[in-house]
Amino acid sequence: MAKEKNNLNLMDKLIALCKQRGIIFPGSEIYGGLANSWDFGPYGALLKNNIRQAWLKHFVTSRDDMLLMESGVIMNPKVWQASGHLQNFTDPLVDCKKCKKRWRADHILEQKSAVPRYDKEKPVDWKEIHCPECGGELTAVRNFNLMFKSFMGPVEDKSAEVYLRPELAAGMFTDFKLIQQANRKKLPFGIAQIGKAFRNEITPGNFIFRTREFEIMELEYFIKPKEWQSAFDMWFNLMKAWLKNLNVADEDIKINEIQAGELAHYSERTVDFEYNYPFGLKELYGLAYRTDFDLSSHAKFSGADLTYTDPDTGEKFIPHVVEPSMGLERTVLVTLLSAYTEEEAPTADEGETDTRVVLKLPKHIAPIQVAVLPLSKKDELVRIAQVLAQDLRQKFIVEYDDTQSIGRRYRRQDEIGTPYCVTIDFDSVKDKAVTVRDRDTMKQERVNLLDLIDYLKERLF
Ligand code: ATP
Repeated sequence: MAKEKNNLNLMDKLIALCKQRGIIFPGSEIYGGLANSWDFGPYGALLKNNIRQAWLKHFVTSRDDMLLMESGVIMNPKVWQASGHLQNFTDPLVDCKKCKKRWRADHILEQKSAVPRYDKEKPVDWKEIHCPECGGELTAVRNFNLMFKSFMGPVEDKSAEVYLRPELAAGMFTDFKLIQQANRKKLPFGIAQIGKAFRNEITPGNFIFRTREFEIMELEYFIKPKEWQSAFDMWFNLMKAWLKNLNVADEDIKINEIQAGELAHYSERTVDFEYNYPFGLKELYGLAYRTDFDLSSHAKFSGADLTYTDPDTGEKFIPHVVEPSMGLERTVLVTLLSAYTEEEAPTADEGETDTRVVLKLPKHIAPIQVAVLPLSKKDELVRIAQVLAQDLRQKFIVEYDDTQSIGRRYRRQDEIGTPYCVTIDFDSVKDKAVTVRDRDTMKQERVNLLDLIDYLKERLF
C-alpha cells in the first residue's frame, strides 16, 4: 500500500533516523561536511551490499544469458568522445544575478510547467523567467559539462587529462567483443556491472537522491535489431518485478514514456520509472532501446571491428542494445521510504501505548537478519547467547546485543529493520528453547534451539 508521502516531514524523519542509527550520515562531518556528500554507516553499508547481491541474483546470476564485468572508473578519454559525453553531457546552468543562487535551467522550466521541456535547440526568453527563490533576474544559459576532470601521471597538461566515468555503459561497449568471444556467447546476451559513477551535478540534493558520487547497477543487452521490442518488454517486466520484491508500492511508480520529440538522438524508445518521492515525482530508473548507436560509434572512433557474425546465417552486423539502468542510492532511498512505518504499539506499562518506528524492509535485504538478545547480563545467559550468535553467524547476518532493557533493544532492532529477534531467558537454560519475535507482527514464538536455524531459514530465504 502506498503511504502518505505528500509531506517533507517523512524525509526529515528518515534522514534523522538514518543518522541516529548509523545508516547514512553527512560525509566529512567533523570538517564541516562536503556539500551533499553522504557516508553509509555499518547498517547502510550492509543494506547497500544486500541490494547489490539481490540485484545480481535477479538480473544476472539467475539467468543463462547474462555476464558480469567490472571496468575502470578512469578510461581512455577517447571513450568519452565516442560516447558523446565530451560534447553533450552538459546541463544548462543559470545564475541569479541578485541572490547568486545557481539553478538548472531545465528544472526551473519544469517547475513552471513550461512545456516542452528545456531544449538546447530552442532557447527560451530568460527575461520572462525569474529566480524561484528571490525573484531576481537570471543570467543567460551556459552549458556546463558534468564530467569530473583529473590528470593521469605527474604532469598536469592537456595530454594528461582524464575523466571519472559519468556512467557505466562505456565499459560494457568497449569490452563487448572480448567478452562475447571469450565466453562464446550467441545473441541475445547481456553484460552487467555495478560500480561508482561521478557527475559534477549543478544542484545535488534531496538526501541521497542526487549526489555527485553514486553507484549505478546497469546492463547492456545485445540483440538482433528485430528482437528489440520483445527484449524491451522483458526487461521492463523484470524491473517491475524487482521493485515489487523491494516492497515498493505500484501506486508510487509512474511509467513515463518519453515522447518522440524528447528522445535522445540514438534512442528509439525510452521509459523512465518515476517514483512519488516526498519532494515530488522524479526519475528512479531508466530503460532505453539505444539501437546500434554505441557499438557503431565506438567502432568508428577506435577503428575496432565490433560486428557480430551470426553463427547460423553467417550474417554480419552491429548488435543493437536495450539498456536498463538503476541507481543504487535511489534504490536505497525508495526502499527506505517504502519501509518507514510508524504505528502505535504497547509499552511495558499495562494498557499504555506509544509510537513504534519500524523499517519494514524486505527480509532478504535487511542489514541485520537476526538479533540475539539475552534477557539479562547474567553470565549463564550471556554465555549461551554468545555461542548461539556465533552459530547463527554461519548462516545469517547477526547482531548480538546485551545492553539496555529488552523493550528498548526490540525497538532499536525495529528501527534498523531486523526481521527476527531471538531472546534467551532463564527458562532457555532448562528447556533449550528461545523466544523468537517477529518484527512486523511483534508476535513471539517459543522455538527449540535445535529447530532454530531451520525456523529462521524458512522465513528469511
Ligand atoms: P536525472 O534525470 O535524475 O539526472 P539521468 O536520466 O541523468 O537522471 P541516467 O543517466 O539514466 O540518469 O543514470 C542512470 C541512473 O542513475 C538513474 O536512473 C538514477 O537512478 C541514477 N542517477 C543518475 N544521476 C544520479 C545522481 N546524481 N545521484 C544519484 N543517482 C543518480
